[in-house]
Amino acid sequence: MKEQRASSRDIKKNNRIRTLRCILRCDRISQPELASILQNSWPTVLQNVRELIEMGLVQEVGEFASTGGRKARAFAPVREAKMAVGIEITQNHIGMVLADLSGQLAGYERRKTEFSTDEEYSRQLGEMVAEFTARFGINSEKLLGCGIALPGILDMSGETLVVSQVLGTENLPTAFFSRHIPFPCLFVNDASAAGLAEVWGEDAPGNVVYLSLSNSVGGAILNSGELYEGDHLRAAEFGHMTLVMDGKTCYCGKRGCLDAYCSAKVLTEHTDGNLEQFFELLRNNDPAATAVWEEYLRYLTTAVNNLRMAFDCPIIAGGYVGGYLEEYGDKIRQLLSGRNTFEPNAEYFRFCRYKREASAMGAALMQIERFIQEL
Ligand SMILES: [Zn+2]
Repeated sequence: MKEQRASSRDIKKNNRIRTLRCILRCDRISQPELASILQNSWPTVLQNVRELIEMGLVQEVGEFASTGGRKARAFAPVREAKMAVGIEITQNHIGMVLADLSGQLAGYERRKTEFSTDEEYSRQLGEMVAEFTARFGINSEKLLGCGIALPGILDMSGETLVVSQVLGTENLPTAFFSRHIPFPCLFVNDASAAGLAEVWGEDAPGNVVYLSLSNSVGGAILNSGELYEGDHLRAAEFGHMTLVMDGKTCYCGKRGCLDAYCSAKVLTEHTDGNLEQFFELLRNNDPAATAVWEEYLRYLTTAVNNLRMAFDCPIIAGGYVGGYLEEYGDKIRQLLSGRNTFEPNAEYFRFCRYKREASAMGAALMQIERFIQEL
């Protein structure tokens, strides 16, 4: 009996979450459309909508014109009712985004700040959050908190950054990052955050492998939308899969890792660290850039094909390079189909939803998701 009560409460809660997600996906939606998409009776939908209006998350915005009978009421999301800040820590930068309730980017900033374990860095981060939230007029009532994406392996509790080769640190308490931030903070691996952003907001997220192609290569494995992290929380460290036996030396010290062939640095070492400039050269048919790009794609498509064979699910390419891949989609899919044993095309290969600041966005969305799940 107790269990039954719990499950009817779960159903009610799920219905409310589905109703909110559905409204968040639209600029405005009519009463019959909403009932039809949710496949619920109108009284149930109306009850949920009323509660969401009381919470200030949804508003009634007049009526849709109708060809006959009564006019249909219309609803819209109050996207800015709750916001979250997402922060991405890298070796030389701090990236910051503001995400609204529907997962849209509402603000952005990136500052060159070299990482250090000195107290001064932690203080600077706190100041940056204070300035950023003040600039957008976000008070503590609106702000759900911060999600902080870190380039390294975190422990299960999220309290320790166990190791980050990129930041050159080990066993750093994550409180170091949140010490001067007066809002709730959560911590997540950068590539996991970016991967989660790809399926965020879906009612029934599927299986996805996310390959992050930034200054280091990483990724995330999502099983029905849930992160698979492995026995040692090192799953999806795709950057250190051996791609070439005894090949180029990776920053980890081993040879032949995927990172040494597919990180953004492979492209930007020709343009002084500037990725946009590399793609400009490529668009202008610069022969050196073209040669580098063709080699890059051969390694990238080999890795993607391996991931497809291992996981048999959509593979999404993201990270800094992922944001530029769409215009080379035909070429990439052609190379991928050439390698695939089972499929004549490579429709499984997708481009990332968030072209920039995906990790910061994913971290912010985790705070938003936490709020939605507690509704
Ligand atoms: Zn490596």
